Amino acid sequence: MIVNADTVWEEIVGPPLRLNIELTPEPLWGIAIEDIVGTERWERIACNERGKSDGFCMRCDRKTMLECDPVWKLDEESRLATLVGFEVVCEKCLLLTSSPH
Ligand SMILES: [Zn+2]
Repeated sequence: MIVNADTVWEEIVGPPLRLNIELTPEPLWGIAIEDIVGTERWERIACNERGKSDGFCMRCDRKTMLECDPVWKLDEESRLATLVGFEVVCEKCLLLTSSPH
């Protein structure tokens, strides 16, 4: 019997995690999206976005506790950060980003 080590490893620890580096401009350091849109509104947005994901992390496909992470588009020239969407990710994938939470 031949056993694929990658398959066994994935069955034990889950699919591989992907490092996703997000640069956050200094003016946004320490500012959570809840500070911008308000906690109640953010909870509604996050709940809606999590519902769209069918319970799966958008990065690693784990079906576990999910968080909603804002996605920013940064324009260095104009020094503007624009909220362009949301990514629904598991807690492990969220830990691999540098977003301010
Ligand atoms: Zn994940």
